[in-house]
Formats: sequence, C-alpha cells, structure tokens
Amino acid sequence: MHIEILTPAQPAAREWLRKPRHQLLINGQWVDPAGGQYLPTINPATGEVLAQIAAADAGDVDRAVAAARQAFDDGAWRNMVPAARARLLWRIADLIDAHIDELSELETLDQGKALYVGRWAEIPMAAEQFRFFAGMCTKVSGDTIPSSINYQPAGKRIQAYTTKEPVGVVAAITPWNSPLIMHAMKLAPALAAGCTVVLKPAEETSLTALRLAELLVEAGVPAGVVNVVTGLGSVVGAALSAHKQVDKVAFTGSTQTGRAILDGAKGNLKKVTLELGGKSPVVIMPDADLDAAIAGAANAIFFNGGQVCVAGSRLYVHRSIFDKVVGGMADIARTIRLGHGLSPDTQMGPLVSKRQADRVKAYIDQAVADGATLVCGGGQKGPAGTFIEPTIITGADPKSAIVCEEVFGPVVVVAPFDDVAEVVAAANDTEFGLAASVWTQDLSAASRLSADIRAGTVWVNCHSFWDVALPIGGFKQSGWGRESGVGAIENYLEVKTVCMVV
Ligand code: NAP
Ligand code: MG
Repeated sequence: MHIEILTPAQPAAREWLRKPRHQLLINGQWVDPAGGQYLPTINPATGEVLAQIAAADAGDVDRAVAAARQAFDDGAWRNMVPAARARLLWRIADLIDAHIDELSELETLDQGKALYVGRWAEIPMAAEQFRFFAGMCTKVSGDTIPSSINYQPAGKRIQAYTTKEPVGVVAAITPWNSPLIMHAMKLAPALAAGCTVVLKPAEETSLTALRLAELLVEAGVPAGVVNVVTGLGSVVGAALSAHKQVDKVAFTGSTQTGRAILDGAKGNLKKVTLELGGKSPVVIMPDADLDAAIAGAANAIFFNGGQVCVAGSRLYVHRSIFDKVVGGMADIARTIRLGHGLSPDTQMGPLVSKRQADRVKAYIDQAVADGATLVCGGGQKGPAGTFIEPTIITGADPKSAIVCEEVFGPVVVVAPFDDVAEVVAAANDTEFGLAASVWTQDLSAASRLSADIRAGTVWVNCHSFWDVALPIGGFKQSGWGRESGVGAIENYLEVKTVCMVV
C-alpha cells in the first residue's frame, strides 16, 4: 500500500494557521486561558504540530457561562425580531460557503479526512443547517387551546394558549469525527430558538470551531451569544456538564462520555440531548442489485475512514450471495487509495490520531486472535502510525468485541444469514440503535425489515443519505432525542402554558 504524504494548503488556511496561538472566544473577545496553558493540535497524516489551542480550565468555563448567561438574561438576543435572527443565521451560512475551501482544508489538516469529504459533504451541509434553521426562526409558535375548565368565576371566560421560549444557556459538546457539521447541528437550532451557547469542540479537532467562531463574529452574532472554550473533555466538558448556570447540554460523542455527562447534569437537572455511538447493521437480501449493494456497503464503512456514527460496521449477507459480496467488497477495499487528505488522489485519509489508530488495530488483532478470518486489510501504516487499511473480517463470534463494540474505524464484520427472522434478530442483537440499511428490490422485505430493525434511521438501497430535513438520532443506547429536521428546534425550547380568566 502506497501512502502519499504531502502538506499543501491554500493560502487562506496557511495564513490562518500562522497564528502562533488560538485563544478562547468569551463575551465577544479573544482571550488567553486564565492558566496560560495551550495544547498542540496535530495533523494526523504527518504527526506535525499545526497550531496551539487554548487549554481552558474550570475558571474559564465560569467566565464563558457567565457571558452566555448575561447575553441570555438581558433579553436582547432572545427577544430579537425573528426575521432579523433569520437573516443573521442566513449570513452565517453564506460566510461558511464563502470560506468553504479554507474550512475544508483546515478540517482535513486537523482531522485527517480526505478533502472531498469536507468539501462536498460536511461543510456544505453545515451551511445548510444554518439556512434550514434560519427558516425556522419565524415559525416558532404555540397553540390556542380550548379549555374545559368549568370553575371560573361567573361571567368570566378561560383563555388558554402556549408559547415557546428558548431553554437558556446551552453547552454544546462535540466529537472529532466530523467537527464543523457537528457544531452546526447544535448552533443552528440553538440560535434559531434564541438560546445562547458555550461550544466545546473535541480537543483533537478544534480548529474549524475557532475559524467558525470568527465567522460568527463577522456575521454579527452579538457578544456572549456564542462562546468557544477549547481544552480537555475531562476539564472543560465536565465543568460545562455540571455547571449550575447551564440549562441544557447538547452532546455528540461516545456512549461512555454520554453517561459521564448525565452524571454531571443531574446537579441542576439540566436538559440533555445525546447523540451517541452506533454499530449499524447493513442487510443485503438475495434479490438485491448486487453492484449497488456491494458499492453501498463498502461506502457505508469506508467513508471518512469509518469514523462515522452511522457507519455500517456489521454486514449481514444472505448465504446464497455471501462469497460474491465479500469478494466484491474486498476488491473495492484493496483499491482504496490512502494518503494525505489534501492529496487529490486520496480516497481515505488517516484516522484522527495515533491513539485512535492503535485502538482500531487492537480490535482487529483481538478478533484474529479469537479465530476470526481477516479477508483483507488489517495493517497500520504511515509516518505517524495513523493509517488503518480498509479491513474486512468474517467468522467473528457474534458475542465478541469486534461485533458488539463501536470500533470507529474502517473495519467491517460480515456474517451470513438464511432468512428474514434470523437477520432481524442479529441486527437487533446490540445495545445500540442508531441506523441500519437494507438492500433489496422486494417491497415486502424492505417494509418488514425497516419496521422491525430497532434504529433511529433505516435506509433502503442507500446508506448515510443525510439531509438537514431528516431527523437523526438513536434508539436504545445510541442516545436521547433527535437532531436535524423540523422537530430539532424543540430541543432548545420550553413550552409555556398561559391560562387566563378574562
Ligand atoms: P468522546 O470521547 O465521547 O468525546 C466527545 C466530546 O466529549 C469531546 O469534545 C470530548 O472532549 C468531550 N468529553 C470527553 N470527556 C468528557 C467528560 N467527562 N465530560 C464532558 N465532556 C467530555 O467521543 P469522540 O471519541 O470524540 O467521538 C467519537 C464518538 O462520537 C463515537 O462513539 C461516535 O459514534 C460518536 N458520534 C455520534 C454521532 C451521533 O450523531 N450519534 C455523531 C458523531 C459521532 P475531548 O476531545 O477533549 O476528549
Ligand atoms: Mg488534529
């Protein structure tokens, strides 16, 4: 396997990276962390240090939350005319589009992903989040409710209605796999609702959050409405989750960290939404369009190096076509070009860090040690040890770690099945329930499987088809609540009932 390593960068990204240090955005000002500590952020393709980002402490979190609290409580932001807030969100989207090349290159340098993933999928979708929720600003409304109360004073009437009000100060905590889109999925509905935000990006991929923050300021987001506090999850994330002045945490990340967030949130019973891990099944029925299914199943696991919450990491193939599908997937896997994400030929970049690559490699080695068959891949390569070859495994024990746990890398386990009932049971034999895909031309099989698989999204004859209009989120331990879609703004709203005697 040839890995091409180069570090080109557009002038804009290069210019921005020249800044020696990246500070915190608190109350509209770029400030040093109180402790003066900075963390290096690394290009995982090469191991080179790209920039120094502020390592905030609990005192910095206090300052950021106080700024967000003040910006919420003084009322100017939440009472802004909805149409004006809509125009502001639309401006943010336009600025993301205007800086799309710079943002996608920063994302690639920081996260490792092949450039096309950011440039054509994630960054445009981040802009669309702001446009979609810009449209929602003017549609937040309540109901007029007929009341059956019959004990009002004689001659009086009851008038009852609901209004929707922003929930308050939101802590948005995001992961490293697809940073900018994750920020947008929280910021856009939160701002549309009139909330104020403290954003804590993943420590390994904070650069596009910081660049986005500059664009928010440029768009005219008032001081304190969005604050960005970089640093360690165990410090900044934990302080935000436990903070008494935070009204809600919007979290995307691992199921394990989701549990830690709940522990922190219980002190003031803040509202919590959780978008967590997955182990999403892909089911290929015997009648499927095999070329489409094989390419689709490969893309479901190898896109973004498998660092996708909805990655199709368990593949179930009808026994009659099992060898053909595995062979076809292996042919694709062996030809995927790995390299620096900025290299135009690259189809798959490195994983986000050496730590993550080691973790993925350990899962593969353990599966093989336990008797599973490595069909292809399995290697760990590159100057920083961060590249994992696209890997296909068969014959794994259904109770083994490689089948049950989220690996979050380009690794798929494939197993045969004989009938629909058997594959439904296998697909549902997981603590997760984020997504699934089913490949078939048979309408009743598609209908039965999409009804019976316990997951927040079921795709039929496609996988990872995302749109801001489609709700995304998990059944079971894949999370609480849904992001995207019209309903997502409700995560950031409280219902107020007003009942009058008039
Ligand atoms: P992670 O380790 O859970 O980290 C997510 C965020 O939480 C990071 O900002 C992290 O900060 C922070 N954090 C860590 N410890 C914390 C604590 N004790 N309290 C509060 N915050 C804390 O997840 P990850 O490894 O970055 O991301 C991969 C995971 O995200 C996978 O499980 C994936 O499935 C999931 N994911 C889910 C979705 C979805 O929509 N369901 C989408 C994308 C990803 P540091 O970076 O500083 O540790
Ligand atoms: Mg990095």
